[in-house]
Amino acid sequence: MEKYDYLIVGSGLFGSVFAYKAMQAGKSCLVIDKRKHIGGNLFCEEIEGINVHTYGPHIFHTSDREVWNFVNHFVHFNRYINTPLAKYKGELYNLPFNMNTFHQLWGVKTPEEAKKKLAEQRGIYADITPRNLEEQALKLVGKDIYEFLIKGYTQKQWGYDPKDLPSFIIRRLPVRFTFDNNYFNDTFQGIPVGGYNSLIHRMLKGITVLLNTDFFSERKELTKKAGTIVYTGMLDAYFDYCYGSLEYRSLRFETEVLDTDNFQGNAVVNYTDADVPFTRIIEHKHFEFGNQPKTVITREYPQAWDANKEAYYPVNNEENDAIAEKYRNLALQEKNVIFGGRLADYKYYDMDKVIRLALDSAEQHLGQK
Ligand code: FAD
Ligand code: UDP
Repeated sequence: MEKYDYLIVGSGLFGSVFAYKAMQAGKSCLVIDKRKHIGGNLFCEEIEGINVHTYGPHIFHTSDREVWNFVNHFVHFNRYINTPLAKYKGELYNLPFNMNTFHQLWGVKTPEEAKKKLAEQRGIYADITPRNLEEQALKLVGKDIYEFLIKGYTQKQWGYDPKDLPSFIIRRLPVRFTFDNNYFNDTFQGIPVGGYNSLIHRMLKGITVLLNTDFFSERKELTKKAGTIVYTGMLDAYFDYCYGSLEYRSLRFETEVLDTDNFQGNAVVNYTDADVPFTRIIEHKHFEFGNQPKTVITREYPQAWDANKEAYYPVNNEENDAIAEKYRNLALQEKNVIFGGRLADYKYYDMDKVIRLALDSAEQHLGQK
């Protein structure tokens, strides 16, 4: 017996935004999640009075005014601007690549000096059409920055030689000739006051949510409960891996409470040496300007993915994208199922993009903004 208009598989950002819009349109929803909490990868747990980003640091940034207004309807955002540092052989460098970084690396003081130095550094790579991440990085910033700040980090993050990775991954990083350490170019940025949990709680207010419920362990019964499914889990899993498994990158987080009020003076410090096994240390209190007596830090270790681990990043190389495309064609033929979000689209989306896609999908299927 159909009891709900929508069964929403996954209480992450895509599922929660869709559920909220469906409820607003007078539709009934059942949201399920296999985890023991709502919010997907945005979830935070409180330790020593600090919101700890359980699944890795999340900084909200967007230039999409409608998305910004949408999230601000639920929560206020603080004035946090992401200004990560990179540590290489014991020295600190500012990110993204800007006049501060160029000064720290080469002692240059003006944009003109920096441009001259970068032209030397790029050498023959300046005019190539990059075929992979290494060539893209050398074309963008030349050999020192590639060697110091990109090569080791990227190899650790993805478990592949940068020569075997797609160039688009590195095009996410800005290069600037100003002394501006803001990691993002977007118009709006911040962390929800009170943490991300309040954002998701407010979206799902009044909606029935079943936790610890895996769609695949009760697929038949759950499918009968609603006219339409909104599916935000793994694309290949939905089709029982009929074209083979898609590849993901996973992470292991090592979280520690320290008996000091300030460990590294910044929320994010990247470790770019190849022989340091983690990629970054997060000091969570700095996302919210916390002044608690203790601090909580997390070391992030990239690791190979298998079915017992969380799938954090799709590995969008040619082979995987070709398999994903075949699954997407199957998804198009699937009646009464809406696929959305990072896992179901097998795409490397930021939060604002996921909200934009969920709002558009809701508009298309519910017939209203
Ligand atoms: P998810 O958050 O993955 O939600 C999917 C949900 O579905 C999960 O709760 C899962 O448990 C559930 N689910 C899956 N399969 C099943 C099943 N079979 N049955 C029941 N439930 C199921 N974006 C930014 O904008 N800024 C950042 O700084 C940023 N940092 C990030 C850092 C890391 C380490 C990672 C991994 C991502 C980061 N992102 C960031 C991206 C952001 O996490 C995603 O854009 C967003 O969480 C995607 O939401 P989603 O709903 O698509 O997926
Ligand atoms: N990157 C790097 N050094 C750094 C930070 C990033 O080489 O200190 C590269 C790395 O390949 C990474 C990509 O830039 O995968 C994109 O970085 P971003 O911080 O956007 O990744 P996210 O963690 O948000 O997925």
